[in-house]
Amino acid sequence: MNKCSACDSNDWIVLEDTASMVRKRCSACGHEQVTLVSPGDDPVLPQELEPVFTLMARWSRAPSMDQINQLKAGLPLMAHSKDDLLSSARMHKQFDLGRFTESELRFDAALFEALGLELERIPVTRR
Ligand SMILES: [Zn+2]
Repeated sequence: MNKCSACDSNDWIVLEDTASMVRKRCSACGHEQVTLVSPGDDPVLPQELEPVFTLMARWSRAPSMDQINQLKAGLPLMAHSKDDLLSSARMHKQFDLGRFTESELRFDAALFEALGLELERIPVTRR
C-alpha cells in the first residue's frame, strides 16, 4: 500500500473495498484516501469468444417520437436516422440495430422490449 500523503505512515485501515474503489484511513493521522480501481485491472471476459450477431428489429406497434428518441439515445452508434426509423415503422419493415454479442443484448434487452421491437438474430460468420 502507498504511504499516507499527509504523514508518511503506511499503516492503513480499509473502510470500504468495492469493485470500483478502495477507501482507507491512515491509522496514524486519520487522513482518508480513495483509490479508484481502474477497469483495466478487472479480469476481462474474452469477448471475442462470444458469438456475434446482427440484430434485426421490427416495430410491433407504431412508435412515438419519444420512443424513436429513446432508441437513438440507447444506441448512439446506430446508423439509422429518425426518418429511417419512422419509415421502417410505417412500412412495417425490418431494420438492423447493428452487431451485438449476447451480453450486449442483455444490456439493451429491456429497452427494446419497452419499445415493442420484435427482434431477430442473424449470426455473423467469423473469418
Ligand atoms: Zn497519515
